[in-house]
Amino acid sequence: MGLLDKFFGGGADQAAASAPRYTHVKIHPQVDNGIPPVNPSFAGGTLSCKCSSKPVKVSVGAQTAHNHVCGCTKCWKPSGATFSQIAVVARDQVAVTENGDKLDVVDPSAAIQRHACRECGVHMYGRIENTGHPFHGLDFVHTELSDKSGWAAPTFAAFVSSIIESGVPPERMDEIRGRLTELGLTPYDCLSPPLMDAIATHVAKSN
Ligand SMILES: [Zn+2]
Ligand SMILES: [Zn+2]
Repeated sequence: MGLLDKFFGGGADQAAASAPRYTHVKIHPQVDNGIPPVNPSFAGGTLSCKCSSKPVKVSVGAQTAHNHVCGCTKCWKPSGATFSQIAVVARDQVAVTENGDKLDVVDPSAAIQRHACRECGVHMYGRIENTGHPFHGLDFVHTELSDKSGWAAPTFAAFVSSIIESGVPPERMDEIRGRLTELGLTPYDCLSPPLMDAIATHVAKSN
């Protein structure tokens, strides 16, 4: 390899630099083997809980937005996953269509009312009832509960440091942030800049 190649990192060096280094680090089953492609004309689907009999079904009538993986301790995660995956959609697009009698609100005092199946524990949708909340009007959903493909892809990682509260050793954070970055899921310890800006704009307007 010539000096210029070395200097500018051409050829094999470049390939080595961009090869994923942290594929052994598991984030969430929906992203660990590559993020599934988005269907630009996707128009929603049905979410089902994990019960083998009488599953709760929730219809989502539109594509979701702001899909992301989340490290907080409140979001539902599939067993073994370090992060949850969660997106938002307009609340008028969300409807419980079957076995809604199995739903309970996990924590009625929380800003987001997470409606969960009391038998399998899966959170079917999260709703904000406080009309003054910056995200009022948006429901939170886990699109992995649908068997359709084409949902909006996750684009960032929220509340990454919070996984330590769920028992992840702090010394693993470098490799976890490394894996998130190489998946294109920029790690934040709050929400993404557009969502933080939306909250700040709401606060500024209400002051
Ligand atoms: Zn269930
Ligand atoms: Zn969360």
